[in-house]
Amino acid sequence: MNPRIDTDEARELWLHASDEELKERAGQVRARYHDPDRATYMVMRIINYTNVCVAQCDYCAFFVLPNQDGGYVLSRKEVFAKIDELVEFGGDLVAFNGGFNPKLPLDFYCDLFAAVRARYGERVEFYALTIAEFVFLADRARIDYAEAAARLRDAGVHWITGGGSEILTEDFRKRHAKWKYTVRDYFDAQRAIVEAGLRTTATMVIGFDETLDERLEHLQRTRDFQDEAGGLFSFLCWTYKPYGTAFGGREIAPREYWRHIALSRIFLDNVKHVRTSVLTQNEDAFRALDYGADDFDLPIEDEVTQKAGATIDLDLEALLAIPRSLGYTVEYRRAERPAALTA
Ligand code: SF4
Repeated sequence: MNPRIDTDEARELWLHASDEELKERAGQVRARYHDPDRATYMVMRIINYTNVCVAQCDYCAFFVLPNQDGGYVLSRKEVFAKIDELVEFGGDLVAFNGGFNPKLPLDFYCDLFAAVRARYGERVEFYALTIAEFVFLADRARIDYAEAAARLRDAGVHWITGGGSEILTEDFRKRHAKWKYTVRDYFDAQRAIVEAGLRTTATMVIGFDETLDERLEHLQRTRDFQDEAGGLFSFLCWTYKPYGTAFGGREIAPREYWRHIALSRIFLDNVKHVRTSVLTQNEDAFRALDYGADDFDLPIEDEVTQKAGATIDLDLEALLAIPRSLGYTVEYRRAERPAALTA
């Protein structure tokens, strides 16, 4: 078994390893957790309950400011209709993701999540918020992260995901998202979430202007967090969609994404699942299974990435045929309930 690599070794691998070597090394780490010929997936929907946001990230094509036309907040009825439609598609996971809407207090979210839990029970699991939104809500409510996490947990929340992380370096945040949160805030909040008994995940987005060192810093911080606090169920990486954003730019090539998935799988030897992004890579996402990924979503909606150029294919059987053609058995994976909350 290869020992854990540090960032210098990761840099060497990135710069000099062949695709075959990366695949092999990533496959060795993947095999510690998963059957090499098996992949798991979920059918899910991201519900963008509001597009009003004051964070103004320059890579976002989704938000409108509070005083601009076109802002919305979904009604409870609209949220339920979207969940019902997901269930008809055979899905059981919702991820709520909206903007930093200053008119929506923490109580709005607690009421919404309690209503979703009351209506669907354990039949549908939901990722309630991203850490980015969680930090904003706690700050607005003037309560600490521990109290915010406890209030959400008491409202029926099981998961607050690591979404909205993009690249976790302070420099990246100053360049692109200075109103969002600091990296320190991010991990302080995630630690409180774990300590409250909730589950969480790690995410990463590549393809902006981040340097190799910034990518490695992100991976290092993620691995350190998992060593110290635990609680990261999975690591999902997707790619920046540049269309309609203030920052602009071009999309990276699939091969760069696959190589990054492999490097992440090798580096994050303490995270069970490495997930590939069908939402941003479409059919190219499945090739990442050869580079160490073991799990993926089939999303039926995400307005945030769709506004920036993502396309969603609703022919789920045609999509599942692709990993099968690559030699994988694919199995549906139900969203897990945190052990700490299991009766
Ligand atoms: S990425 Fe999220 S936090 Fe940033 S502007 Fe868009 S909606 Fe707001």
